Amino acid sequence: SLRAGIVGLPNVGKSTLFNAIVENGKAQAANFPFCTINPNTGVVAIPDPRLDVLSKLSKSKQTVPTSIELVDIAGLVKGASKGEGLGNQFLSNIREVDSILQVVRCFEDDDIVHVNGKVDPKSDIDVINLELIFCDLEQIEKRLDKLKKSKTKDPQVKVKEGAERSGLEKILDALMDGKPARSVDLPDHEKEAIQHLYLLTMKPVIYVANVTESDLADPDKNPHVQEVAKLASELKSGMVTISAQVEAELSELPLEERVEYLNSLDVAESGLGNLVKATYNLLGLRTYFTTGEQETKAWTIIAGMTAPQAAGVIHSDFQKGFIRAETVSYDDFVAAGTLGAAREKGVMRLEGKEYIVQEGDVMLFRFNV
Ligand code: GDP
Repeated sequence: SLRAGIVGLPNVGKSTLFNAIVENGKAQAANFPFCTINPNTGVVAIPDPRLDVLSKLSKSKQTVPTSIELVDIAGLVKGASKGEGLGNQFLSNIREVDSILQVVRCFEDDDIVHVNGKVDPKSDIDVINLELIFCDLEQIEKRLDKLKKSKTKDPQVKVKEGAERSGLEKILDALMDGKPARSVDLPDHEKEAIQHLYLLTMKPVIYVANVTESDLADPDKNPHVQEVAKLASELKSGMVTISAQVEAELSELPLEERVEYLNSLDVAESGLGNLVKATYNLLGLRTYFTTGEQETKAWTIIAGMTAPQAAGVIHSDFQKGFIRAETVSYDDFVAAGTLGAAREKGVMRLEGKEYIVQEGDVMLFRFNV
């Protein structure tokens, strides 16, 4: 599944948020097989009301939400790229995630020490960006050195290496300017050529502004939140406002009391819901469904994936042997009630290898084994 890493300076609320989200996910999906891979990794179920509707219609024995893997990446401090704190270990953890959630402290509390002495989102964001930039700089310089020494005679390899050099040189300029790699508009062939480096500043970032509960109803009143919003847009990143403490309290309440608690704070949705939406938007994710008597299941794919690629998310054999996909849109399925009824009504489509899977498609794959 998709992996998101939580980063942030010490004492900004990372662990509070991580624990709350993982607990919350457990309660949302009692059937979901949660595995704690190691103490700082949790699998988070993604709530989706459409899943329950489909499950009821199909009288499924099991309902399985789609999920994101959340990694708590602790230990990022100033100097991490030079090996301070947990340093390099933290950086290798980041290399393995698909997106970065940076918690930024926007709550004032004199009892909780801020590493820099005061709450200052811009400085927090700058510190972390700089560490990631230093790390990428070092990696790119090493790689460019190697490419410059290359003596390949293979014309195809030459073209590839040329594209990689050109891409890396553009990124180098941006990094020297304090800008992340993702801010550089590279042509597709250069993008592909540098992909194998997994640059840290290429990863999409969502800034999570951690506010105090009384700020949740109208977070824009908090000047720190305004500052995070401004930076997020400058850095081509996403943003959500959350109260880690409220999430922690929510995770301890029975489900039926949560809505009441949220209402008492004058907010409509939990921070987790907003965070999931922001992640889906930023990464361009889509959900499709499979449904039957055995189980109803939601699957996460990247926008633009074809039917065989989407089938491959379930199992690589589905992709290899793909023949076609019986496909009904979510609304048509709900109106028809079953796949059979959808077929009779003529709203079921037979889609082939080129079909781009759409948000909410209900799919049944036919494949050769
Ligand atoms: P981490 O070092 O970033 O993982 O931070 P923690 O999650 O351990 O939080 C540091 C301290 O800040 C803890 O005592 C939390 O209870 C507290 N904290 C976290 N979020 C909030 C918040 O929204 N408001 C207030 N007042 N305290 C918070």
